[in-house]
Amino acid sequence: MSEHTPVLSFPCPSCGDSPAKITLPDGWNDDTMAHCNSCGVSFGKYGEIAERIRQAQEIEGADHLSA
Ligand SMILES: [Zn+2]
Repeated sequence: MSEHTPVLSFPCPSCGDSPAKITLPDGWNDDTMAHCNSCGVSFGKYGEIAERIRQAQEIEGADHLSA
C-alpha cells in the first residue's frame, strides 16, 4: 500500500501550508501521530485531528442550513 495523505481543512500552524497535508504510515489508525508533510511538526493523534475536522464541517453545515 502507498502512503495515505489526507488533506486537512486547516492550515499548518508551523509552516503555514494551507490546507495542511499529513503523511501517515501503513497500518495507521486513530492513535497514529500525524505530522505535517511540509515541515514535520506534530499535529497529535490522527483520530483527534479527524474529530476536529468533523466538528468544523458540522459547524459549517449548520451555518449553511440556517442561512
Ligand atoms: Zn507544516
